[in-house]
Amino acid sequence: MTGVIEKRQGAAMVLFSGGQDSATCLAWALSRFDRVETIGFDYGQRHRVELDCRRDVLEKIRAFRPEWQDRLGEDRLLDMSLLGQISDCALTREKAVEFEANGVPNTFVPGRNLLFFTFAAALAYRRGIGTLVGGMCETDYSGYADCRDNTLKSLQVSLSLGLDVPLVIEAPLMRLSKADTWALAEELGGRGLVDLIRFDTHTCYMGDHTHRHEWGYGCGECPACLLRARGWEGYASR
Ligand code: ZN
Repeated sequence: MTGVIEKRQGAAMVLFSGGQDSATCLAWALSRFDRVETIGFDYGQRHRVELDCRRDVLEKIRAFRPEWQDRLGEDRLLDMSLLGQISDCALTREKAVEFEANGVPNTFVPGRNLLFFTFAAALAYRRGIGTLVGGMCETDYSGYADCRDNTLKSLQVSLSLGLDVPLVIEAPLMRLSKADTWALAEELGGRGLVDLIRFDTHTCYMGDHTHRHEWGYGCGECPACLLRARGWEGYASR
C-alpha cells in the first residue's frame, strides 16, 4: 500500500479539518514523522460541527498512542472567513447541494485547497517544517480540480520557489479508494483507530451529527455521506 511503517525524520504539518480523510492523514503523519503540527480553517462552512469534532478528534488521536502524544505538537485554527465572502457555493450558503452544468457539484469552493496550502506553507516556513500533508484524493475527487495530483505537484513547485525552501506536499490518499482509506486507518492503528475515525470524525455537508449509521454520523443523503457510506461498505465487505 503506502509503506506506512517506514519512518522518516523531520517535521510535517497536516491540514486537519476533523473529517475522515484528514484524520487518517494525521495518523499517517504521526507514524512517519518525528514532529507533527496541525492547521485548520474556519471559512464559514455550513458544516461547522466539523470544527467542534476537530478538537475532540485531535485529543483522542493524541491519546491514542504514547508516541503520538509526544510527536503531536501545536494546532492552529485560522480564520478564513474571507473565503465565505468570495464564494457562493452550497458549503458556505444556505442552498441545496446540486450539480452544475459542468458536472461539478456546487459544494466546490473555488481555490480552497490552493489557499489552504499557501497559508499552511507560510506557517510551515516560520515553524521550520518542510512537509505539508493533505487528504486530497483523485479517485473520489468529485470533480474538484484542486484535489488533483498535478494541481498539488505544481503547487509544491510554486511554493518551494516562492518561499525559496524545498517544500514537499504529501497526499497519502491520492490514489486510494474510500474503502482503501478505511483499510489504511486499520493498518495504522487497528480497529481502535478505525472506530475512532468512524464515530468521532465528521464528513456530512449538512452538518448533521445526530443520526448514527454503521459508517458514522451524518444525514445519509448528501454527496459526502454517500461517498463515506459506500467506502465503508466496500471496506466492511472485504
Ligand atoms: Zn450528509
